[in-house]
Formats: sequence, structure tokens, C-alpha cells
Amino acid sequence: MSERFSPSGTLGAMHIETIAPPDLDWQEEALCAQTGSDFFFPEPGSSVREAKRICALCPIRSACLEYALDHDERFGVWGGLSEKERLELRRAAH
Ligand code: SF4
Repeated sequence: MSERFSPSGTLGAMHIETIAPPDLDWQEEALCAQTGSDFFFPEPGSSVREAKRICALCPIRSACLEYALDHDERFGVWGGLSEKERLELRRAAH
């Protein structure tokens, strides 16, 4: 990932690409905008521990997770949960 930092103070590059502009307001406090998106979209088999640690401190964690679940985000860590954990959460809800 070449774009580590988001100049507008919103989510990292890959998050940005998947979110429509009207949904961006809640992301102004996103901690991942300050750390870069690499932690949140690790290579397959890499640890997501650092991303989860950052998410645990993020003030918009709930909104982020809700967004990811609502939009069926399949890749990366959102709201402190990995893709696998979000899938398990979705399955448990049905
Ligand atoms: S909860 Fe995690 S992925 Fe979501 S905005 Fe905060 S730091 Fe980024």
C-alpha cells in the first residue's frame, strides 16, 4: 500500500475507496487515518493484533463496525474485528 496517510484526516486509502462521501462524516476521528491503512489490510496470514490495538482506542469504533457490517466489508480490520470475526458475527446474528 503506497498511501499510508490520509491528508484529509479520514480513513486510510483502502477504506476511503470503499466509502461514499455522505458516509465520511463519522470518520473524522478515525485513528487509522493517523496510522495508515497497512495495519488494517495486512498480507494474508499476517497479524491483525496491531490494528485491533488501535481500534480498541478509537472513539468511533462502534460506528466503524456498524458501517462494515451494513456494507458487508469483506476485507481488512474494521471496528476492531477481522474479516473472519465479522463473518462469525454475521452468522451468529442469523
Ligand atoms: S475502529 Fe479501527 S478501523 Fe475503524 S475507524 Fe477506528 S481505527 Fe479505523
